[in-house]
Amino acid sequence: MPELPEVETTRRGLVPHVRKRRIAALAVYQPRLRWPVPRTLAKQVAGQRILRVGRRAKYLLLELGSGTLLLHLGMSGNLRAVPSDSPRRAHDHFDLVLDSGLALRFNDPRRFGSLLYARGDAQRHPLLRHLGPEPLSVGFDADYLWGITRRRRIAVKQLLMNSRLVVGVGNIYASEALFRARVRPQRPARRLSRADAARVVHGVRAVLRQAIRAGGTTLRDYLGADGAPGYFRQRLYVYERAGKPCRRCGTAVRALTQGARSSYYCPSCQR
Ligand SMILES: [Zn+2]
Repeated sequence: MPELPEVETTRRGLVPHVRKRRIAALAVYQPRLRWPVPRTLAKQVAGQRILRVGRRAKYLLLELGSGTLLLHLGMSGNLRAVPSDSPRRAHDHFDLVLDSGLALRFNDPRRFGSLLYARGDAQRHPLLRHLGPEPLSVGFDADYLWGITRRRRIAVKQLLMNSRLVVGVGNIYASEALFRARVRPQRPARRLSRADAARVVHGVRAVLRQAIRAGGTTLRDYLGADGAPGYFRQRLYVYERAGKPCRRCGTAVRALTQGARSSYYCPSCQR
């Protein structure tokens, strides 16, 4: 599943293709995505210039003159930049055709992705309005994490994965960040010390930055905008390594289930 680093990698890959380009056409082949692609969208966006490609949580934001396109990759989506006349493959659901002759082509076998439009300030769109701070922004610091953990019994890993509290920390990165912070994923949030909170923030930021530099993690489903796979998986410390020796101390990595998701930790390195 594309997580924040994959989305950010896609964003960075898109920038050179879309900067200062106009949308020649939007061709929708399958409107039934997670939410239906609005029928009027093609008319609304044709002819508009793409001013900026941003990101909020896992939404790509294509800022146009009169509003913003919100694109989510869902569980299995990817976006490729291809010549607009290149043959379509199975599960190609729309083309955003640019005046350069390239198309941004969205492929998504499971159709949990989405393409929506926000007039005016995209940050106030119902899907974005209630999101917590970006993990790489100054708003996500030790004071913030310390504050939101004080009264919460919830396990620290599940707190990190709650997008109302902080966005973009998916299952892989939550496990990896907690390994770096030396905190077990099942520790109740309110049992974090101030120093633990600082290490968790540092761990989250470090693991996301490293994954972005490596171009994302999810080898199976993900291709960057330029078609290059992510290589971060080879650097994972605990994720999907149950029974294998901890890369730091050699103790067997353990797995547990939290909120129907698998978590991984080293019982020696993490407390
Ligand atoms: Zn260890």
